[in-house]
Amino acid sequence: MHLVIIGNGIAGVTAAITARRLAAEARITLVSAESAHHYSRPALMYLYLGHLRYADVKPYEDWFWVENRLELVHAEATGVDTAARTVQLATGQTLVYDRLLLATGSLARPAAWPGRELRGVQSFVGLPDVEKMARDTHGIRHAVVVGGGLIGVELAEMLHSRGIRLTWLVRESRYWQSVLPPEESALLEAHIRRQNIDLQLTNEVRELRGDAQGRVQTVVTTTGQALPAEWVGLAIGVQPNLALAQAAGLATDRGILVNELLETSAPGVYAAGDCAQHRQPAPGEVAVEQLWYTGRMQGETVAHTLCGQPTPYRRGQWFNSAKFFNLEYHTYGRVPAQPAADTTSFCWQHPNGRHLLRLNFQRKSYAVTGVNTLGLRQRQDVWERWLREKTPIGTVVAQLAAANFDAEFSRQHEPAIRREFARQFPDIAVGQPRRKGLFGRL
Ligand SMILES: Cc1cc2nc3c(=O)[nH]c(=O)nc-3n(C[C@H](O)[C@H](O)[C@H](O)COP(=O)(O)OP(=O)(O)OC[C@H]3O[C@@H](n4cnc5c(N)ncnc54)[C@H](O)[C@@H]3O)c2cc1C
Repeated sequence: MHLVIIGNGIAGVTAAITARRLAAEARITLVSAESAHHYSRPALMYLYLGHLRYADVKPYEDWFWVENRLELVHAEATGVDTAARTVQLATGQTLVYDRLLLATGSLARPAAWPGRELRGVQSFVGLPDVEKMARDTHGIRHAVVVGGGLIGVELAEMLHSRGIRLTWLVRESRYWQSVLPPEESALLEAHIRRQNIDLQLTNEVRELRGDAQGRVQTVVTTTGQALPAEWVGLAIGVQPNLALAQAAGLATDRGILVNELLETSAPGVYAAGDCAQHRQPAPGEVAVEQLWYTGRMQGETVAHTLCGQPTPYRRGQWFNSAKFFNLEYHTYGRVPAQPAADTTSFCWQHPNGRHLLRLNFQRKSYAVTGVNTLGLRQRQDVWERWLREKTPIGTVVAQLAAANFDAEFSRQHEPAIRREFARQFPDIAVGQPRRKGLFGRL
């Protein structure tokens, strides 16, 4: 069998490595345009910060691929003929496949503002972007970041590390509004402003203006401000990279449409990672998962199917983590920006504005459904068990110490959390769940 994989990101390489383990004799070819070898995309910012070198963000030594008979092709795939089962490369080479995996990842969402093409205006998704940013921010004094998600905060931290004065434009009325409940947004807004960053909510770019050399100089906003900007970072989101799938005539929507085996609309062709869109996501689940660990899980799952062991993709409990400068964010289970109709939410905050814990639970059964923390670390294994076992909120509040990494936190904050829970939910006994008739007031 010849397995061809397009894309050497986490989904593609995990599929390749798993397939090698499952099918010792298979020929496996990994094609990627961006870099000769796999590297960790979430670690890109550390290259700019100078904390890591390129060699440090490559999880595998270069000999690993030869040793495991994984053939690497550093080239762009320009076409797929699903009837003839061939992939055309920009080099003129043609690869014949038995099974094909598209793991083509994401692209930065394009911006349409006038001036988008000026030098010093860029997004940040790949290796060339680090080099460009390092070159174009050298010695500058003012920058603007546009967009309030996780790449936005990475850009802010990178610029801040070099003492560059930063204005950060966020279209929404609160920070990361589509994901976070209001208290989390407010805490992060205060935290960001404490770093001397000019975070402007409900403000957008109208136009980018340049100097005579074609370099960006000013950002004009929808509120009429003219902000000085020698560099502008665009963090307005990513979108699945569909170019190859569309050229091949595969069914696409926002992503490449796949069933639970991650099969596309063409026989023998699969898709995994950021580029894939689940045709029938489970209720409350997202159709396009753009995370590192879901890319790895999809790569591992699809490898089984590619090697003749059909395996449906089951993600399990949702989790995510991020850092907002030095403040850690963790989430397990489901904590939407607005609680669902059948759940309610408990939120505790330390008066110093640097720690927050939110617990969501079912109104009727009291089963815990999710947790958010800021400035506190929770143990994934404990949370996965509590969520899987639908542990009652009273038990979770009583046993919070079991879930945290940080003894200092358990000693200092848990009594306060329990007191606050008792104040907000006097009818729920902590430690022994009561099941009936207590939610009339919610
Ligand atoms: C700056 C940044 C920070 C991030 N931080 C985090 C984080 O902290 N935690 C987290 O969970 N997620 C994070 N993410 C998201 C995470 O990196 C992605 O979800 C993950 O890398 C997706 O993996 P993938 O294998 O699907 O695709 P990708 O990593 O995007 O790899 C796809 C590869 O396919 C190649 N390719 C595409 N088309 C072709 C073609 N036609 N021919 C040849 N090659 C092609 C591309 O060049 C690319 O190298 C971050 C993303 C970015 C950009």
